Amino acid sequence: MDDPRRRVPRTDALLGDPRLAEAADRLGRARVKAAVQEQQGAVRAGAPAPDDWAAAVLAALPRTASSLRPVLNATGVVLHTNLGRAPLGPAAVEAVAAAAGYTDVEFDLTTGARARRGRGTLAALLRAVPDAEDALVVNNGAAALVLATTALAAGREVVVSRGEMVEIGDGFRLPDLIASTGARLREVGTTNRTHLRDYDDGVDEDTGCVLKVHPSNFRVEGFTSSVEVDALAGLGVPVVVDVGSGLLAPDPLLPDEPDVASALRAGADLVTCSGDKLLGGPQAGLVLGRRGTVERLRRHPLARALRVDKTTLAALEATLEGPLTPAWRALRTSSDELRRRAESLAAALGGGEVVPSAGAVGGGGAPGVELPGWAVALPEVVAPRLRAGTPPVVARVEGGRCLVDLRCIEPADDAVLAGAVRAAVEG
Ligand SMILES: *Cc1c(COP(=O)(O)O)cnc(C)c1O
Repeated sequence: MDDPRRRVPRTDALLGDPRLAEAADRLGRARVKAAVQEQQGAVRAGAPAPDDWAAAVLAALPRTASSLRPVLNATGVVLHTNLGRAPLGPAAVEAVAAAAGYTDVEFDLTTGARARRGRGTLAALLRAVPDAEDALVVNNGAAALVLATTALAAGREVVVSRGEMVEIGDGFRLPDLIASTGARLREVGTTNRTHLRDYDDGVDEDTGCVLKVHPSNFRVEGFTSSVEVDALAGLGVPVVVDVGSGLLAPDPLLPDEPDVASALRAGADLVTCSGDKLLGGPQAGLVLGRRGTVERLRRHPLARALRVDKTTLAALEATLEGPLTPAWRALRTSSDELRRRAESLAAALGGGEVVPSAGAVGGGGAPGVELPGWAVALPEVVAPRLRAGTPPVVARVEGGRCLVDLRCIEPADDAVLAGAVRAAVEG
């Protein structure tokens, strides 16, 4: 009966340990107690008793009160949707923390009266896109589309090219989304070719708006034709352009990616996009465009159901005004830098082949664009061990190998990554 493995301390005694008491203050007593009981149960079931029980329980606890775990993205895919798309930069993180308590999000501190919600963020958006007369922020890109089509075309028709009837990802299909708003879809043209006369034939007194969608996740090549925004703007009905990724102005790195400013300058009434793709900010949907049209959306009852919270507004403003975002730093990281860092990682591991590795924009955007770079190639069996490590590292499994690509790793995290990879390689 004196088997030391069976000596299990009492729950209260463990919870009284100052380290676990401090953890309970941070994470909640129930979570710490559950971790204590799990450790006790494991030892009773035959696992070796830890030398330091409190330390073992602490090691099993999450770092924060959320079960979401920070991971190192070693996939080379910058806007990885399963990993939360764009990572917020330090300026946005600081703004989120500062806005998390009571804030003047909808309050004027001078007059003491109610003020327009998120006015600072809207002002930053209009500074970033001077071609827009007004702007609105909603929950995500899909919400922006829903609000635009509902406010402009519920009970009426939305005219869309057959070449733009896209599925964005995870079963999100544009035709289904529009049908859910009570607007009827009027498809014009064909999959590969749609002409201005097709739109012209489709537009009548029942038209609520013409919608142009950027088919962001595929490319049609060959005998193709589509109608540019400036031609659609002459049809005499509101033109809504979903550019998808949130590129605010043209960028030479992604020459085929449509941007908000160009669509507005070409005559779009409204442009919608996401906040957490190429904008590099929080999950949000942006609507920019003509004053009267944006106002119609703002006044629609649905706008209230799609609005964002103060932390999103704070992160978005900081992203718009702040320094280069982590997503853009990753997109712009040179092949030479990646090779140098991959070689350092391989040296730290005492092995591992440094191989060419193409990064991707991700988030369903820029499907044809390959970002040249380098990665450390390891045996495929390392990949699950990397995911199980602390911190978890998500690498790319390709051609029977595990590729560790440093593009989306902050250079300051290279040493942490090296430690995690070494642990995984050593098993
Ligand atoms: C991503 C995307 C959407 C959906 O945006 P979410 O922010 O994911 O809701 C809509 N349209 C296009 C063209 C997109 O690329």
